[in-house]
Amino acid sequence: MPNPLYDRLFAPLADRPGAFLHLDGDTSLSGPDFLAMVHRAAAALRSLGVRAGDRVALQVAKTPEALAIYGATAATGAVLLPLNTAYTPSEVEAFVADATPRVLLVDPTCAEALSPVCARHDATLTTLDASGRGRFRELCDAQSSGAVVEAREASDLAALLYTSGTTGRSKGAMLSQGNLLSNATTLAQEWRFGPSDVLLHALPIFHTHGLFVACNVSLASGASMIFQPGFDLDAILLALPQSTVLMGVPTFYTRLLDDDRFDRDLVAHMRLFVSGSAPLLAETHVAFEARTDHRILERYGMTETNMNTSNPYDGERRAGTVGRPLPGVEVVVTDPATGAPLPVGETGMVEVRGPNVFSGYWGMPEKTREELRDSGFFITGDLGRFDDDGYLALVGRQKDLIITGGFNVYPKEVELLLDEQPGVLESAVIGVPHPDFGEAVFAVLVAKPGHTIDRDAIDAALRERLARYKQPKGIEIVDALPRNTMGKVQKNLLRDRFGDRFV
Ligand code: ATP
Ligand code: MG
Repeated sequence: MPNPLYDRLFAPLADRPGAFLHLDGDTSLSGPDFLAMVHRAAAALRSLGVRAGDRVALQVAKTPEALAIYGATAATGAVLLPLNTAYTPSEVEAFVADATPRVLLVDPTCAEALSPVCARHDATLTTLDASGRGRFRELCDAQSSGAVVEAREASDLAALLYTSGTTGRSKGAMLSQGNLLSNATTLAQEWRFGPSDVLLHALPIFHTHGLFVACNVSLASGASMIFQPGFDLDAILLALPQSTVLMGVPTFYTRLLDDDRFDRDLVAHMRLFVSGSAPLLAETHVAFEARTDHRILERYGMTETNMNTSNPYDGERRAGTVGRPLPGVEVVVTDPATGAPLPVGETGMVEVRGPNVFSGYWGMPEKTREELRDSGFFITGDLGRFDDDGYLALVGRQKDLIITGGFNVYPKEVELLLDEQPGVLESAVIGVPHPDFGEAVFAVLVAKPGHTIDRDAIDAALRERLARYKQPKGIEIVDALPRNTMGKVQKNLLRDRFGDRFV
């Protein structure tokens, strides 16, 4: 029976006798080994009452068993709902209440806290730990490894993936089999993936980057993955000589650059470094090339759409841009007030349309109507502009745009200047309430190790370079910027912390 996602991504594993997942200590799982795991997990889910369309939520460590649950939901026609492992039980309860999953898989240490939650919301609780053991694993071991695959259509729901919650409450993006599949095949082609590729996988698998971008591209192309439980610098350095591709968030690259062991020889075997999920500083791009001769390929996407744009595999990878629209994906920049398309070079709202774009937010019809136009364009909330060569540069999120005394200030413009100042490692520019201006520009800086920051010198430098309304009215120096697990700076936390500076 046809099931596009299972048929294209998982079924081919049967004919891939080589390693699919390289694990710790020289062990590996072949394609057929992993597929058997998928089939057992599918049978185990069925035995727990999971049927097509049911949500299967999991908040578990990154293991092959956890990844197999993705395949199992595809095979059973269930909807995968992975949750960030950092969420507390009360946060998990909010997701369970919202999505009403049939099953919730958790680490055994959380079972006690979450079993009342499951009881309240009529879900079955089962467990899987960081070594892939637990009640769910026992259930899997008792099942047959034969394939039982539910018929599905491309428009059927495959995943309910919650956004990172950087700008507000997380929203559940409904992604169809077709959404995932179109992006998987496009990216595999664009980035020239093939069976000889070995992807170094150190990202979490509860987020679109590590789950769909990395795993789907590998599955779609017959590549294998060195599957590491998380980002561990030593483990990465050890695995790089065996790898061909690394996908990372910008902090992966800055951490690698901070280590002298990371050099040209270590990456001699690599063909591609991909970055996304948060802005890659042009400075990192340049330093990376100087160290390795590789130009990091930056791409842009989000939970609701998977990937939208990418710098080219062949051709210029332009630092400070997220590249051009992927084949089949339309990207336009519009006037945020009217929705009218803007000419090249002007900054506005980034909107996206294509087979990759989700069908709406779970249980939020109004929010869906606000952000997903009848024409099919999704209003991303990101501000950007195209250059003459069709490369998109992002300037930040609309929610982070500062309006001071009636003037718009794009934080990135100020941040780029601040980052150039002596002693500054990085910066975040936010708007904070101000009695006269509505909002005031406020800069939060982190000093380079062993340096001190001279605020007066910074004030003076910015006075020369920026219009008065763009100059920070306050500067604060902190030890580190608050970041989430994907390396995104949490400006909402900074606004909470410094919001009372002028009021
Ligand atoms: P929420 O929607 O709940 O506020 P979020 O938007 O951070 O959270 P994600 O879907 O994980 O949740 O992240 C998508 C966002 O990440 C994009 O809208 C964009 O702002 C940012 N992003 C992704 N790739 C890049 C990139 N290469 N450069 C800059 N920003 C990026
Ligand atoms: Mg978002």
